[in-house]
Amino acid sequence: MKCKCLPLVAAILLAAGIVQNVKAQSFEEFVKQQNAEFEEFAKERQQGIEALRNEYEQTVEDYRRAMNRMFDSEISSIDLMSSDDNIEVKNKAKAPKATISSADLEKNAKDAKNDLANTSSGELMKQLTGTTTEEANAQQVKEATNKLAAVISDVINQTETTPNEQPKVEPKKEQKAEQKQEKEIEKEQKKDQKAEQKQEKDVEKEQKKEQKAEQKTEPKAEPKKEQQTEPKKEQPKTEPKKEDTKTGNNNIPSGKPCTYTRISSPFGERIHPVYGKKSFHKGVDLASPNGTPIYATADGVVAFAGVCNGYGNFIKLNHQNGYKTGYAHMSKMVVKTNDKVKKGDLIGYVGSTGTSTGNHLHYEVYYNDQVTDPAKTL
Ligand SMILES: [Zn+2]
Repeated sequence: MKCKCLPLVAAILLAAGIVQNVKAQSFEEFVKQQNAEFEEFAKERQQGIEALRNEYEQTVEDYRRAMNRMFDSEISSIDLMSSDDNIEVKNKAKAPKATISSADLEKNAKDAKNDLANTSSGELMKQLTGTTTEEANAQQVKEATNKLAAVISDVINQTETTPNEQPKVEPKKEQKAEQKQEKEIEKEQKKDQKAEQKQEKDVEKEQKKEQKAEQKTEPKAEPKKEQQTEPKKEQPKTEPKKEDTKTGNNNIPSGKPCTYTRISSPFGERIHPVYGKKSFHKGVDLASPNGTPIYATADGVVAFAGVCNGYGNFIKLNHQNGYKTGYAHMSKMVVKTNDKVKKGDLIGYVGSTGTSTGNHLHYEVYYNDQVTDPAKTL
């Protein structure tokens, strides 16, 4: 019995062994194939992230150039505005309140420039994404590149003038007016000017009544009245020549240098919307259509009329009493260096030259080497 069974058992074992071997072989093949595919995928992925990293590094270089140009522009304009131009101060004006020294502003700009020079591209990546360049995935590297590109675009790419471009601010102005004046104004805006004027008179009458009744308790009734009675788009929000009547001095900057729809960027410290760093806006941006006339806000001498880096066509007036005013991004200038100007004289037209995001007048007021908020003089 044993002898008969043995070959059969051997045959069965042999067959099983062959099947097993075949199975093992095909499995090995399978794993090998899978590994090869994975390697190929990883290689492609590596090449992809390398390309993204290279693009990031390139963008960092562009970013450095753009930012340095901005800092240099800032520093040179601070120097230009704080200079006394070797012009004799005849009647020293009383110093305005709340100012910032140009030296501090210049130091800030220089510190920021040094800061950037000392920040490696890896450190920038960490600031932008919270992770290192090595650990950042493709999405994070892309994100960092896009953030830098947005800053570059902010700083550099929007320098071209767009003639006759209407400011993009009017709808916002309307919103602002609505917020301020609420329901009354919503109705007023639908009526024509005559109706508005009528209503203004009514409001004035009411205000006068209120004033009489509450003269002692409400000294600030007048600004309220102004807001309510000025729904027209081009109206300034403050009385233009208030300072004049107070001081009787045409050498102290006062009033609006041009008509404007709104202050599109106020004076003071601001956080950059993209890269989150602090910077200082040392003037006010008055949004106004291209070609709007710009007038001198005080008597003085044209200390500079020319191109000043990011400020484009720039005019500096020295008012010979410590005060100096600056007018940037003009489309056209109609005075030249050393010209004498009177308050209210035409000096140029609104534009978007230099580093500018649209037609507006960037307006600065200095007192000696102190930078002041021009909004207080408008
Ligand atoms: Zn500005």
